Amino acid sequence: MKSEASARVNLEDARALLKEVFGFGDFRPGQEEIVAAMLAGDNLLAVMPTGAGKSLCYQAPALLSDGLTVVVSPLIALMDNQIAQLSALGAAAGVIHSNRPRADNVADWRRAAAGDLKLLYMAPERLMTERMLAALKDVGVARFVVDEAHCVSQWGHDFRPEYFALAKLREHFPGTPRAAFTATADERTRSDIATRLLGPDGAMHIHGFNRPNIDLVVTDKFDGKNQLIAMLGEHRGEQGIVYCLSRKETEEIAALLQGDGFNAVAYHAGLDAGERTDRLNRFLSEPDLVVAATVAFGMGIDKPDIRFVFHYAMPASIEAYYQEIGRAGRDGAPARAVMLYSGADATRRRRMVDRDTDDRSSEGARAEYRRLDDLIAYCEAVACRRQRLLDYFGETIEPCGGCDVCRQPPDLIDASAEAQLVIEAVEASGEVFGPSFIAEILRGADTKKIREKNADALSVYGAGKHKAAAFWRMLIRQMNAAGLLEIDTEYGGLKLNRARCADGAAAFKLRRQKTGAKARTRTSVDLGGADAGLLEALKQKRLELARERNVPAYVIFSDRTLIDMAKRRPETVEAFGDVFGVGAAKQREFAAAFLSVLCEFEDDDRAKVERGAA
Ligand code: ADP
Ligand code: MG
Ligand code: ZN
Repeated sequence: MKSEASARVNLEDARALLKEVFGFGDFRPGQEEIVAAMLAGDNLLAVMPTGAGKSLCYQAPALLSDGLTVVVSPLIALMDNQIAQLSALGAAAGVIHSNRPRADNVADWRRAAAGDLKLLYMAPERLMTERMLAALKDVGVARFVVDEAHCVSQWGHDFRPEYFALAKLREHFPGTPRAAFTATADERTRSDIATRLLGPDGAMHIHGFNRPNIDLVVTDKFDGKNQLIAMLGEHRGEQGIVYCLSRKETEEIAALLQGDGFNAVAYHAGLDAGERTDRLNRFLSEPDLVVAATVAFGMGIDKPDIRFVFHYAMPASIEAYYQEIGRAGRDGAPARAVMLYSGADATRRRRMVDRDTDDRSSEGARAEYRRLDDLIAYCEAVACRRQRLLDYFGETIEPCGGCDVCRQPPDLIDASAEAQLVIEAVEASGEVFGPSFIAEILRGADTKKIREKNADALSVYGAGKHKAAAFWRMLIRQMNAAGLLEIDTEYGGLKLNRARCADGAAAFKLRRQKTGAKARTRTSVDLGGADAGLLEALKQKRLELARERNVPAYVIFSDRTLIDMAKRRPETVEAFGDVFGVGAAKQREFAAAFLSVLCEFEDDDRAKVERGAA
């Protein structure tokens, strides 16, 4: 009984802290329940999507509890980032890692040992040394938190051997609560994390994957570079990531963007470590930097104000896609995810799987091909894209109204006769040729290869003259996406899925792609009534303050906070405290600076109105 009552009081404290320290009015879905469970001392695993606000789920309990919370995190950049944010909130947090001067590490350790710290961040290999474990036993630990906990599992996509040793924590600190957090964990990975870190009494908290503020768009790639420039043109001055397929491509795209006046840089695993850190730091501090990156740029990019994630080439799987686009809009303000998609890129992806597997018929390889097919089917979606994406993760939603398909449902045209012709052409030519050659057969093309293979003797030769080759290739791609045709991964030849063809071809509908200017997508972030000029002035002030303090701009305030500020236009320090994301510490530190911008702007406005009236 007593513990229930105290948990309730704690939760009220947690709400007060949310407003006071973090400046947020409400918990996000899932947070409150996890905070309550943490405060009650549960061992738990929380699975919440990227950007859902996992950090707060352990930071708030840490700040509310007596004693030290030890947080394990895999990357130095991640830890530094959190420390910068916590310090700006006035929270007592420290970090120990190998990239800092020894004196700083020692200083933070002393504060922890003296009971002056609430949170101490560490890499797993540092924590699991005999010395550190013994020292922590002396000091006493209130709870352990393992962030990015999927790293503990070999089933996960990012296994880290250093995380493995964390399983020993249970033996060293049997009575100390442990909490694990991750964004991506399938069934197997979850139970793996639970066994290794939590023990039999571990509880699971699994929360939704919908990120409604991210606008989802997949569009046909027909003139990639110009399409990219056009899309980016609508986001000039904003920060984002352009994912590319290869290192070479990241360099090309970065050069292209620089040539067009963007602040852009390439990022990939081929750069040396110093160069990578340098570019990552630029990304954290320059609010308009666009990074053309491979997947190497990713985990722990914990920046709330990334406004767009573009895929210049298709990603490896839906999981990868979800993780990558999940880096956009973590502050909850509108953000965009656009993928340029082409059959050629799908083929390049398939080749990459081929190259990485020795045995193409192995279970592992087949799973990879299936994952790719799932992604292609997502790209070809004819109904709500978000619904399709979430369905993949086992979550059901109504059509969202905020994706490209919802906004502009594709024209579906009957193509059953044409689909039948494709099937005949594939079958008659022996199921060994790829899409381009099948299109040539149907078009009745007079090429060397046609003559060599005697394809001009087939009855379907020339039967599809009335349509362009591009039409046939598009139809074949969509038939592939619908599962009527399969591509032999070894030779690239098309094969029939006879079972599907039997009932699928008779009703086959082609999704007509809208190309050119018409396919351009809705853009410009919804400012919800905030004045764009004022917002610009507030951003300017934020940049100035960030430079003075040598921290990333979002450590001062997120975009969402500035938008809310521009809408509310507070005139007093007190009213300033009501702005979204303004807690007590930030209210004290920044009210004056921003109120003066707001005040000047009022004067400008008035002057304009008066001039207009005169
Ligand atoms: P992740 O779950 O990916 O670790 P973070 O903890 O980095 O996400 O949080 C993402 C963003 O959400 C941060 O900018 C954070 O300040 C913000 N955030 C967290 N909780 C809330 C909340 N209750 N209300 C508003 N914003 C929040
Ligand atoms: Mg996180
Ligand atoms: Zn939709």
